[in-house]
Amino acid sequence: MTSTSEAMDTGDLIARAEEGLGLARPEIVHLLSLDDPAQVEALYQAADRVRRRCVGDEVHLRGVIEFSNHCRNNCTYCGLRRDNAKLARYRMEDDEIVECALGIAEGPCGTVVLQAGEDPAFTAERLCGIISAIRARTPLAVTLSVGRWPYEDLKAFRDAGASRYLLRHETANASLYESLCPGRRLSDRIECIRHLKRLGFETGMGCMVGLPGQTVEDLASDILLMQEMDADMIGIGPFIPHGDTPLAGHPPGDAEMVLKMLAVTRLVTRDTNIPATTALGVLRAEARKRAFSTGANVFMPVYTPKKYAPDYQIYPGKAVSVHEDMPLQEVVDYFSSIGRPIGAGHGARRKR
Ligand code: SF4
Repeated sequence: MTSTSEAMDTGDLIARAEEGLGLARPEIVHLLSLDDPAQVEALYQAADRVRRRCVGDEVHLRGVIEFSNHCRNNCTYCGLRRDNAKLARYRMEDDEIVECALGIAEGPCGTVVLQAGEDPAFTAERLCGIISAIRARTPLAVTLSVGRWPYEDLKAFRDAGASRYLLRHETANASLYESLCPGRRLSDRIECIRHLKRLGFETGMGCMVGLPGQTVEDLASDILLMQEMDADMIGIGPFIPHGDTPLAGHPPGDAEMVLKMLAVTRLVTRDTNIPATTALGVLRAEARKRAFSTGANVFMPVYTPKKYAPDYQIYPGKAVSVHEDMPLQEVVDYFSSIGRPIGAGHGARRKR
């Protein structure tokens, strides 16, 4: 049972967080550990008010093209991992990617997200050609989600017209990261994020919730790291076990913990762009909708062509695209029914 003093402390903590006074690590751990439904609801409502005050009611749509499911890496949680021989691999042609972006430009998305595994067939030069073609032929902002690259290549992407970059750090626990991503180091990933910021990219970070061995203190570290790095966009989703990976059989992350992470992240980072991730919807469709009342303000519909989308299997059950069981009009109608208009333009971070 929760004592009155604990309830008072929690209320005071939420009120201070709502005012933007910052949260220390033990305070973040306390909020993430709440299990009293009334207190959790108070946390969500505070995050929703901060979301309205700092980024408004608009929901920004980003159209995602998953253009290759090849990857040279072997992350233990990911269905695209190099050693997963069961996955049917595909690569879109350059023209096909640009055509897909032209289709996105006809709809309500102000941004295209070009996403893929780390596929050596897409050289920096090739990616620059695709970025330039999209920038020349559409008004879309171009976001890249293509893994870690050297500084010079990132600069070339920026010069070609890309203005945003998503590079999730996955977990701020370096030893956990290194056990999940063999042969790679968290410090290299963080250095790449620093390069992105230096080059003027709006930079996205993000983490998974419910990784094997992850603690609530680790999750607090994720929030503090994203605050310290001044991430502009923040993607937080549950770990979902994929049957053809070494982590098959581990339990998935908890949807409620993801919602608490979104809420506390909104309270701490204020004006960032925070999507309700597809992974959250896979776990519980209602949770993804709920995310829009606990801090989220971005939705990322998948425009990957129908013949490829089912094979972009980072985690199972993900083949939800505007071509399949989520027609975009349904999404737009849903947001309008909850009083959340679709944002116009690129939907860049509105810095205080
Ligand atoms: S998580 Fe990314 S880098 Fe790791 S195997 Fe999957 S696609 Fe490749």
